[in-house]
Amino acid sequence: MRIISKVRELKEYLKEQNKIVGLVPTMGALHDGHLSLIKNAKKECELVVVSIFVNPTQFLKGEDLDKYPSRDKADKKICELSGVDVIFLPQADEIYGDDEVKVLAPNIRGFTLEGASRPGHFNGVLTVVNKLFNIVNPDFAYFGKKDAQQLNLISLMVEQFFMNVVIVPVDTVRESDGLALSSRNIYLCADQRIDALKISSSLYEASKMVSRGDVQVDDIKRKMSKVLEPLEISYVEILSRDFKATKRVEIGNSIVLVEVLVGTTRLLDNIWL
Ligand code: AMP
Repeated sequence: MRIISKVRELKEYLKEQNKIVGLVPTMGALHDGHLSLIKNAKKECELVVVSIFVNPTQFLKGEDLDKYPSRDKADKKICELSGVDVIFLPQADEIYGDDEVKVLAPNIRGFTLEGASRPGHFNGVLTVVNKLFNIVNPDFAYFGKKDAQQLNLISLMVEQFFMNVVIVPVDTVRESDGLALSSRNIYLCADQRIDALKISSSLYEASKMVSRGDVQVDDIKRKMSKVLEPLEISYVEILSRDFKATKRVEIGNSIVLVEVLVGTTRLLDNIWL
C-alpha cells in the first residue's frame, strides 16, 4: 500500500497504473462504515484509493474542526488490512490556495436540513469532492447513505457538471443496538450513548407506521419527535429520494431523516423507505 500526500505524485502514479479506479473519500477515524465502502470498492475496482482529509471548508466557525478525531496509525492499519492500494493523505495547503474558486450547493436542496443548520457546509463538501474527483479521476466513487443529503448533492453535481464518475451509494452500517456508526460517536459519554439510541428508535417507529399503512408525513413526524424527546431536534423530515417535499410516504421513493444534538454532538441518521 502506498501513502501519498502530493497531488502531482498521485496523478502520475494513477496514470502509470491505467486501472479501473475506485475512490473512497473520508475524513479518517475509520470505522466499519468506512470499511463497508472500501469493501464495495474492492469488489468493483482494480485499484482503490482512500482519501483521508479533514476538509476545513466544510466546517463552520465554532464547529469541531480542531478537535475532529484523528487516528492516523489505526487508519493506515485498517486500510492496509482491507487491501487498499493508495491512501491519499494531503495537508490542507496541498488542496487549497488563497482566493479559491468554489462549487456552490444549490439554493434549495443545499440549504435545507443539514444545510440549514450548517449554512455553507455543502459548498465546502462539493468543492473538496470536486477537487478529489479531478485529482483521482475515479471510475467509481463510494459514499454512505448515512449522509443522504451529501450523497444526493454529490450525485446532482456529477449529473449537472457532466462528470465522468459513477457514484455508488452504500448502506448504513449500524452497531448491533441500532446506532449508526459515526466518527463522532466517540464524543458520547455512556448516558449520551443511551440517549442516542432514540435516533434509530424514531426511524424504526416511522418504518413500523408505514408498514401499518400510516403514510401521512405529518403524523409520522409527530410520532418521531415524541420518541426523540427530550433530545434537541435539528430536524425530522420525510422527503422524496430526490429531496423534494411530500405529504405522504411513497414506498420505494422516500427518505426519513433525523438530526439531533446529543449534548454538543450533532448526530444524523436516516432510513430509505
Ligand atoms: P466521513 O469520514 O464521516 O466524512 O465519512 C466518509 C464516508 O463514509 C461518507 O461517504 C459517509 O457517508 C460514509 N459513512 C460514514 N458513516 C457510515 C456508516 N455508518 N455506514 C456507511 N457509510 C458511512
